Amino acid sequence: METVGFIGLGNMGGGMSLNIQKAGYPMVVYDLREEAAKPLLEGGARLAGSPAEVARLSDVTFTSLPGPKEVEAVATGLEGVLEGIRPGAIWVDLSTSRPTLIREIEPRFREKGAHVLDAPVSGGKSGAASRNLAVMVGGERDIFDRIKPLLEAFGDKVFYAGSIGAGSVSKLVHNMIGHGVRQAIAEGLTLGVKAGVDAESLWECVRRGSLGRMNVLHEGIVRTVFRGEFEPASFALSLARKDVGLATDLGREFNVPMPVANLAEQIAIEAMNRGWGDRDSSVTFLLQEEQAGVEVRAPQVDPAQAARFITTHPDAE
Ligand code: NAD
Repeated sequence: METVGFIGLGNMGGGMSLNIQKAGYPMVVYDLREEAAKPLLEGGARLAGSPAEVARLSDVTFTSLPGPKEVEAVATGLEGVLEGIRPGAIWVDLSTSRPTLIREIEPRFREKGAHVLDAPVSGGKSGAASRNLAVMVGGERDIFDRIKPLLEAFGDKVFYAGSIGAGSVSKLVHNMIGHGVRQAIAEGLTLGVKAGVDAESLWECVRRGSLGRMNVLHEGIVRTVFRGEFEPASFALSLARKDVGLATDLGREFNVPMPVANLAEQIAIEAMNRGWGDRDSSVTFLLQEEQAGVEVRAPQVDPAQAARFITTHPDAE
């Protein structure tokens, strides 16, 4: 069995490394806080004195560090992973970090005959402890395939995202969407409560409506945006514009600031003025694509199959 190194034994790394150990891999560990290694040492892991030593002793070295600054220092700094890594060995960064950084560092590992994957995770501290984690992986496909069983020792939803940096890009997109959606939820719930509906009823409405049925949202995006086809509409932009307008009116009536909702309304108005009122409400994607200078297309995805994936994976994040 490969020897596995693990650097960064915090909230996430602590749980993930213990699950790797539980799967039977011999381990070498390191953290600035020596006490963080205690549970692993009790399970038979070896304590290293530096990231370079971890890499020297390991076939696969994981890092789970706070952010880009620490990743860069641990990977390429004095006594870092790059210094110790052997030809053929693999470094996997599990941190949520800057995609450009891993793309810059990877060639230096390649020069030494070593491989790099970026594999940020989603699921929180409890998911790390219970092996309930999504792992989104960027790097060479055959290296991913080779260590997939090891990744599955701590993640139950492991998937390949693309070339180096793709895992980090996916993770940032995931968290950014989550944060934006939470802000929209905050605006909606403060509006609803101030306008006289209790929080529990509002939440029930969100859960039971089409918004709460993720497969409806998902199927809609696959059917329209991924194909670049916004007609016939299943929910017309003119109706969406009317609804968000009524909601922002209500916010004015009750003095509830709703920056995201008002911005969404302005974008819908612009789309209406393009003459798109009868198209599907997701046609506002076209304005964002125009401003971003890129298209979001994946016509090969089957909407029915995609929706089934979500219904059969209720815990997918
Ligand atoms: P944490 O602060 O609990 O753990 C980081 C660990 O790295 C600490 O034990 C720290 O001592 C160690 N460390 C820092 N600098 C080091 C260095 N130079 N050398 C060796 N060890 C060093 O953070 P966390 O919550 O475990 O998060 C780790 C990564 O996972 C972050 O990038 C975070 O964004 C990401 N993440 C966190 C969560 C979460 O819910 N906590 C969820 C998903 C992803």
